[in-house]
Amino acid sequence: MHIRPSQIPPEVARVTKELEKAGFEAWIVGGCVRDLFLGRTPKDWDVTTNATPEEIQAAFPHTYYTNEFGTVGVVSDEAPESVKVIEVTPYRLEGKYSDARRPDSVQFSRHIEDDLKRRDFTINALAYSAGKGQLLDLYGGIKDLDARLVRAVGDPKERFEEDALRIMRAVRISAELDFELEPRTRAAMRDCAGQLEKISKERIRDEFVRILLSPNIKKALILSHELGILQYIAPELEQGVGVAQNQAHSFDVFEHNLRTSQHAADKDWNFIIRLAGLFHDVGKPKSRRWSEEKKDWTFHGHDVVGARMTKKILETLKFPRETVDKATALVRWHMFFSDPAVVTLSAVRRIIANVGQEHIWDLINLRICDRIGTGRPKEQPFRLRKYQAMIEQAMRDPISVGMLKIDGRRIIEMGERPGPRIGWTLHALLEEVLEDPAKNTAEYLEGRAGELLQMDDKALHKIGEEAKETKAQAEEAEIKDIHKKYFVD
Ligand code: ATP
Ligand code: MG
Repeated sequence: MHIRPSQIPPEVARVTKELEKAGFEAWIVGGCVRDLFLGRTPKDWDVTTNATPEEIQAAFPHTYYTNEFGTVGVVSDEAPESVKVIEVTPYRLEGKYSDARRPDSVQFSRHIEDDLKRRDFTINALAYSAGKGQLLDLYGGIKDLDARLVRAVGDPKERFEEDALRIMRAVRISAELDFELEPRTRAAMRDCAGQLEKISKERIRDEFVRILLSPNIKKALILSHELGILQYIAPELEQGVGVAQNQAHSFDVFEHNLRTSQHAADKDWNFIIRLAGLFHDVGKPKSRRWSEEKKDWTFHGHDVVGARMTKKILETLKFPRETVDKATALVRWHMFFSDPAVVTLSAVRRIIANVGQEHIWDLINLRICDRIGTGRPKEQPFRLRKYQAMIEQAMRDPISVGMLKIDGRRIIEMGERPGPRIGWTLHALLEEVLEDPAKNTAEYLEGRAGELLQMDDKALHKIGEEAKETKAQAEEAEIKDIHKKYFVD
């Protein structure tokens, strides 16, 4: 395994070259070096150097320096987003952590070794010099990349005690990369999990979001549960552990929630479906009642209870308002009744109104995940496809004269008296536009309306009524197309 110079973007190479030209050392470091070895596209590029912030700033025309950690942003104005700002940080010694949160002080060093030593995991402690073509791997990061292991640099317990967020970073990075935890690192995570208490909800949320965006949601959250981490993310999820469901379900509530969210990841579906999937049945443990009549468990109202809980959980994690509202709405309405043999178009319209037009497809996808999360093999049975067709039908804009770039008022302005002739004219125009949408311009339609209005009542009436017939047929054809799209008749 080695890095080819062509893997380094020119903007990054330029930054290290300029620093070296000014007499300093410069290393590409951290997650981006790890990602290069894994053949992944780095999210951002970090450079570390023995220059001071002032010296870094002096080496480049456009920089900014606004933090207390010594990081200088070097700006390449014309560059693509991922390399527009390259963060250059002086070698740092880790300061003392008195609270497992933030170092009390930041000290700069003249030695790259000090900087690598303070980094969290061996795979994140690799440094590469583009100028020298040299890789610095002081902690066996390459070996761990090969073995696909997340291993703390140095003594894992000390490292997690310094900064408990590293516990969440370990879960997140292993989920993103599909790596395992090195056993001592894993044991220390369990021992130190209680220190997550001191970490701000925002920082926990950011790692949680990245777990949900990863391909391994279920594995990462089961791990979080086993190591005592999940209680600092969303303890309510753990109420579902061991809570058996009714006979339709093979899994307990906890596992069902995880499987539902995991299916959204498997489908590469959006964040909000993953989030809502994870919490959709969170209200079940509180709503479970035994029914003597059914000889089975019931969960009446778990959607309402679950929506309330989801709102609270997401607010505690300081999610933006919009995310809270969307996820809560999906959990609230995830039980929508969807048997197309019984459901009417107006019932479908009500569901759309409840959850909001912009979320209706997410709700459908949530239903698909929910089914798969139950262990039912078929993801999209006929009935669901038929329901999807009904949604499209309910949401499509009807074909009407309102689509025209001319209206009745304009026709009156053109000299026509109010009366049925206006409707006949508009319908005749609509027919032409359905035939050829390019004709839907004010200019053409006004000209054509002028011609139509020359006709006597009888002739115009006939044309108008025939046009209405054509419109009805066009509507039918559109609905047919929708059904075709979902393979339903
Ligand atoms: P990504 O860029 O995909 O988020 P990353 O590993 O690059 O992943 P960053 O947050 O960009 O993560 O951090 C860059 C590097 O800084 C890491 O690779 C690691 O070496 C170091 N680092 C970040 N956070 C910590 C921490 N809490 N403790 C120790 N080292 C850290
Ligand atoms: Mg990074």
